[in-house]
Amino acid sequence: MTISPLSRKNVQALTPYQSARRLGGKGDIWLNANEYPTSPNFDLLHRTFNRYPEPQPEAVINGYANYAGVKPENVIVTRGGDESIELIIRAFCEPDDHVLHCPPTYGMYSVSAETCGIALKTVPLTADFQLNLAEIERNLDRVKVVFVCSPNNPTGTLVNRVDLLKLLDITRNKAIVVVDEAYIEFCPQASLVNELANYPHLAIIRTLSKAFALAGLRCGFTLANAELIGILQKVIAPYPLPVPVSDIAAQALQPQGITQMQERVNDVLNNRAWLIEQLSKIPTVVQIFETEANYVLVKFQDSEKIFKTLWEQGIILRDQHKALGLQNCIRITIGTRNELEQTVKAIKLV
Ligand SMILES: *Cc1c(COP(=O)(O)O)cnc(C)c1O
Repeated sequence: MTISPLSRKNVQALTPYQSARRLGGKGDIWLNANEYPTSPNFDLLHRTFNRYPEPQPEAVINGYANYAGVKPENVIVTRGGDESIELIIRAFCEPDDHVLHCPPTYGMYSVSAETCGIALKTVPLTADFQLNLAEIERNLDRVKVVFVCSPNNPTGTLVNRVDLLKLLDITRNKAIVVVDEAYIEFCPQASLVNELANYPHLAIIRTLSKAFALAGLRCGFTLANAELIGILQKVIAPYPLPVPVSDIAAQALQPQGITQMQERVNDVLNNRAWLIEQLSKIPTVVQIFETEANYVLVKFQDSEKIFKTLWEQGIILRDQHKALGLQNCIRITIGTRNELEQTVKAIKLV
């Protein structure tokens, strides 16, 4: 007797998201999950652990609204940006609707769609990692949610702003356009937040996991017009954020926390420039892709050899060899200068 056949067919068929942690590895240098390499330090200020938390903690909502330049009514806080992805699918997709994504891109859009039993349409990015708008337009039938990631994970590239606005125009009254801005702190000028007033069907995903250095907190946001936020409020869990999480998130969003985040960003950008400079001198490096985020996608002559050799030395990178169009590519998170020095040294010796 086995109960597996009792689970939903789509769950039986599901390949779970291959998160960096699930893939494992042993070592001291973790450059595979786009985390910040060191932890900020916070003390808990609230100790009412016996009480349920506020459903949408005011200090967190106001802090993020203030930081993002929107009104509190334009913000919903979730358990990481990942929960926002699933929330939007659950709120908007009927069983026979479709979700559209543009690989190579973040894997959670397809995993969340499959988990919800929603069919997925795939319109690959062009060779220079831009939207194929003509093909997207031809495939919009029954599509309720379009996911676009900018800066895109794992390529690091920005999607052209004019293309995003065209996408918003061709989907008006038809579909929600989700622009995933998980890495926007590394290129804040590229945000679409100022377009919210023009597009009721635009939803922007944000997170504290990357530039805010709080991946362990599990705290993310969706920014949208009040009507869209209200719909997500209807389907979100009653108490999504644990008391310690909102406590620390509220502190991280104070002016001092924002300043520290910006200092971190400057650090990452300096180290990224250094890494790219070093990699460009290594003969086994075929191509270094343009990046606006805290990671860089690199094409090698033989990426599997590089990946495996460094893995065995405890330098854990993110293999992209099997991602659409990314043969022989590895994604390297910008770690500390010391971690990057060791990584460069190890690559040179392969
Ligand atoms: C990291 C990431 C997220 C969100 O991560 P959370 O830790 O769940 O907030 C969302 N989208 C992309 C593209 C990411 O890389």
